[in-house]
Amino acid sequence: MHIVGAGVAGLSCAVRLARAGRQVTVYEAAGHAGGRCRSFHDTTLDSLIDNGNHLLLSGNQAVVSYLEDIGAADSLTGPNQAAFPFLDLESGLRWTVAPNSGRIPWWIFSSDRRVPDSRAWDYLQGLRLASAGEDTTVASVLDTARPLYRRFWQPLAVAVLNTAAEEGAASLLWPVIRETFGRGEAACRPRIARVGLSDSFVDPALRLLEAAGCPVHLNHRLRGIEVGGGRVMALEFTGGRVDLGNDDQVVLSVPPGAAAGLVPGLTAPQGSRAIVNGHFRLARAHDGLSFLGIVGGICQWLFVRGDIASVTVSAADVLADDGAPSIAARMWREIARALDLGDLPVPAHRIVKEKRATFAQTPQEAHRRAGPGTVWTNLTLAGDWTDTGLPATIEGALRSGHKAADLVLIGAANA
Ligand SMILES: Cc1cc2nc3c(=O)[nH]c(=O)nc-3n(C[C@H](O)[C@H](O)[C@H](O)COP(=O)(O)OP(=O)(O)OC[C@H]3O[C@@H](n4cnc5c(N)ncnc54)[C@H](O)[C@@H]3O)c2cc1C
Repeated sequence: MHIVGAGVAGLSCAVRLARAGRQVTVYEAAGHAGGRCRSFHDTTLDSLIDNGNHLLLSGNQAVVSYLEDIGAADSLTGPNQAAFPFLDLESGLRWTVAPNSGRIPWWIFSSDRRVPDSRAWDYLQGLRLASAGEDTTVASVLDTARPLYRRFWQPLAVAVLNTAAEEGAASLLWPVIRETFGRGEAACRPRIARVGLSDSFVDPALRLLEAAGCPVHLNHRLRGIEVGGGRVMALEFTGGRVDLGNDDQVVLSVPPGAAAGLVPGLTAPQGSRAIVNGHFRLARAHDGLSFLGIVGGICQWLFVRGDIASVTVSAADVLADDGAPSIAARMWREIARALDLGDLPVPAHRIVKEKRATFAQTPQEAHRRAGPGTVWTNLTLAGDWTDTGLPATIEGALRSGHKAADLVLIGAANA
């Protein structure tokens, strides 16, 4: 079994196959595994930081089962109760969204658990997302004039879809609401990696693969695939060529642009959206708050881990064109206000721009997602951009990897 791409989709596929006793070889173009979900040591901050803050929810079932499989189930951290604190920088209002347990969302009838100036009906409008057609945007089914739109629906859509609510696909937002908020408090507890993304999602998987005798070849970029007789015959890597035997299967788990360049005739999403993260060193560890939703500024989510404050801006293509010093100054003003730090100069920081953070999750681009199967009998696709029915998130990427592994195993069983 050959798996190309060691992001979380490729790793989850490799882990499932290795656990099923298959001999797997993983090839990765970069000098590290993890793809868009990884940590690195930043020399400016002299600290381990994630390429981007990743927020997960306790209802992310594939995340839970993958972390259990690789022995990292306890590597996420977060509150014991679902609670989403928010700050509106324009009005100065602070509030906490606190869903209740059970499937019936009575919290929307409780003014101290819901967004200020919202009515229960504003939330029930969200049910329209469930029946929205595939060509419908999030904004087109909601009342954009209501305060709840600006203070809840819009930030939620941008966080989940990395695409503005005005152009984001309603059909991709709904499954997330159904699987988290729709299942009550226990399914929507916020979770972040306790140490870092690599510590949770990457390093334990690499250890498992190594223990199973499955090599992971870094710095191996797939440059071409040779097809013939309805199957993939060979893989051409920067490091050399791999000829495939009759039983060899290939799972291609690379981003959509790379996949389209490798697989003849493949339709894949073409547009992408940026995410900009800023990481700032605080004068001292801040214990009061681990994360905060922010509206009315450029920052959208603030995460605090020890003495590092990190902010995320999704759908950030315009911001990403700005210079890092200017982005840092704007972000820091908002962080200082959110954490009540007063008028401090911008501290040591790192701005990370991921220009192609995810595919643009518009209805048009969603139509371009490919299923896992291909016309070549031994080639399967994985990755957050494939047609998982979910948005491009860790949860979607892991499910795509699991699905690809299951197809390979079923194919092998039927051969
Ligand atoms: C800044 C940022 C913030 C995010 N925030 C969140 C969040 O809060 N919550 C959430 O759930 N998700 C979030 N995501 C999305 C999440 O990170 C991705 O959905 C997920 O990591 C995608 O995994 P993947 O394996 O599908 O793709 P990738 O991680 O892109 O993996 C593909 C791998 O293939 C390799 N590759 C490419 N071409 C080749 C080739 N020719 N040969 C060999 N290897 C190749 C790449 O180097 C890469 O390692 C965020 C993403 C970013 C960038």
